Amino acid sequence: MPPMAELLLVGGRVIDPNSGMDQVSDVLIRNGVVMDISQTRLSADVPHFNCEGCIVSPGLIDIHVHFRDPDTTGHHEETVASGAAAAVAGGFTSVCCMPNTTPAIDCRTVVESILHRASAAGQARVYPIACGTIGRLGESLAPILELVEAGAIGISDDGDGIADSGMMRRVLSLVEAAGSVFMQHCQDPTLTRGAAMNAGSLATRLGLGGWPREAEELMLRRDLILNRSIGAKYHAQHLSVAESVDALREAREQGQPATGEASPHHLLLTENACENWNTQAKVNPPLRTSSDIDAIKRGIDEGVITVLATDHAPHPAHTKETDFASAAFGMVGLECALPLYREALIDDGVLEWPAMLKMMTSEPANVTGLDHLGLGRLETGGPADITIIDPDATWTVDPTAFRSEGRNCPFSGRNVRGRALATIVAGQIKHQQASDRADAAIEDQSVLR
Ligand SMILES: [Zn+2]
Repeated sequence: MPPMAELLLVGGRVIDPNSGMDQVSDVLIRNGVVMDISQTRLSADVPHFNCEGCIVSPGLIDIHVHFRDPDTTGHHEETVASGAAAAVAGGFTSVCCMPNTTPAIDCRTVVESILHRASAAGQARVYPIACGTIGRLGESLAPILELVEAGAIGISDDGDGIADSGMMRRVLSLVEAAGSVFMQHCQDPTLTRGAAMNAGSLATRLGLGGWPREAEELMLRRDLILNRSIGAKYHAQHLSVAESVDALREAREQGQPATGEASPHHLLLTENACENWNTQAKVNPPLRTSSDIDAIKRGIDEGVITVLATDHAPHPAHTKETDFASAAFGMVGLECALPLYREALIDDGVLEWPAMLKMMTSEPANVTGLDHLGLGRLETGGPADITIIDPDATWTVDPTAFRSEGRNCPFSGRNVRGRALATIVAGQIKHQQASDRADAAIEDQSVLR
């Protein structure tokens, strides 16, 4: 298949949150680069893509996914290739994969092998996040400087937090020296032994171990205290409780380079989703309460939480089709996140499209340094990573149709609004949604094959 060198996106609402651009324009792409963005009709003898009624956004970025690759366990939960295909199907052009693989991403060889498989897959761009400690065991330092040099764009032991304060201090210092970012999974493990869902009366009634909210806030506050004198870029993953939003707000007001992320499930579901021992709602950190959702939304509205991330976590069916206490934590998110964010934030009046897209483009790029590659924004001369969004497409979430290997999704059957109509990476259409909008399809289909 010869690569498509040129493409003209016609008549879409072009939103670039980084520059504040929000105008109906044409966008000309040539050789993987944005050549022109113009409010006057561009005419070029190249394939056209009709974007009328659609949003033309910088390619969406998800800085928190689990691709289970490498995997020597034989579970076949996901691969870099299947995960990257799921990413473009959901509108994401760049994703960051977490290091809780088998083996963990704690040496140069594994970092390089992931980059190699991502490039061979040729779907979304995939950037590895490498471990802070060897094997994510929290006991000995990983070679952080070398991992960053090899291509890791962030450091995390995600799946676990780093519990040992002395170790955490050393990790933060090295992350700061490497000019990278530390992404913390905030969970004090001494408070969550045997825990399966939010601590409270529902957990008691269901006979399940309770996960106290303090487990998150304690580690977050400890980290922010440790980081006061270090000043590393610090990013708190998947915030679930109101107190964490307060802790992050205080640190940011004191000038710390601290950021935080919110996930679709923590914006839309409460612990009540665990009723009837519904294992699809089992996730780490657990689903909380409606007042926590309100606090996270307030944090987003105030600009305390600046990043939306899915925590896409595929698991084989048998690990969910078991009793709640033994079931796996996590849910897939890449292919339904966009309309879920829309429902939680736009339909609820918290944000409008430009502000929401900022949390999915320029802000996650800033956290991970992908902004230095020109990603997360849409501008002349920049890489043509673009997501064309039909904001009003209505559809029903059907995990059996996902390109991810994971089918574990608590939003199965939900009627949603908004969808990526096409996903363009480096000027190439990597995904195009079949649509009722016959006019939206690229006119010359042959260029897609
Ligand atoms: Zn995590």
